[in-house]
Amino acid sequence: MLLICHHDSVLKPHSLTEILFPSRCFGCRALGPNICSQCRVLWNPHLYRSTLDSMHVYSAVLYSPVAKRIILSAKENGIKSADDLIINALSHSLHLLLRDFELGILVPAPSRKSSNRKRGRDFLSEITHAIAKSESLDCMDLLVHTRKIKDQSELNAHERSTNIYQALAIDRNKLPALGVETDVILVDDLITTGATLLEARRALEVRGIRVIAAITACLSPPLR
Ligand SMILES: [Zn+2]
Repeated sequence: MLLICHHDSVLKPHSLTEILFPSRCFGCRALGPNICSQCRVLWNPHLYRSTLDSMHVYSAVLYSPVAKRIILSAKENGIKSADDLIINALSHSLHLLLRDFELGILVPAPSRKSSNRKRGRDFLSEITHAIAKSESLDCMDLLVHTRKIKDQSELNAHERSTNIYQALAIDRNKLPALGVETDVILVDDLITTGATLLEARRALEVRGIRVIAAITACLSPPLR
């Protein structure tokens, strides 16, 4: 079916999509731009520094219902402009980290295979590679899961650390590409209990790789 209007003979597909699916803020669902000004304020990057068993973690945004929906829009719905907000927050954390520490290879926390299948992409890996490219840093997907784990979002602090403990390892295929001394910066979208980042560090350090520090886009108050 073609839509005819006065000036153009055919509406562009782009405008047709907008008529059928008007855009909404992915923070609060209000009609209008992809991110409204009120939600944008909640995503305005700051500096939150935390320490996990002597590992420094730099985060940019406090986790909130708005932040949760922004992350889900990127992760589960693949919305490009939500990706950009997360890239923006992570780059901010990275810049602040690099004021205090030296450069390292960016290493994303690995996603579960089942999540990647559902999403049709490895969300955090894509985001981390995009940041590495714009910052002219190296990036390697060094870590893999060695067994199945549950979705961490449903678990409390104790369950999370049991769930992830010794569940990560270095991808053997990547070992030949590593130098003698490798220093890395860990990357994740959200830090809650820190269980994933601590397990990632353990898996890297048993192979002699040094974790300089970690960056996340969001910081959530710790669970009990
Ligand atoms: Zn909004």
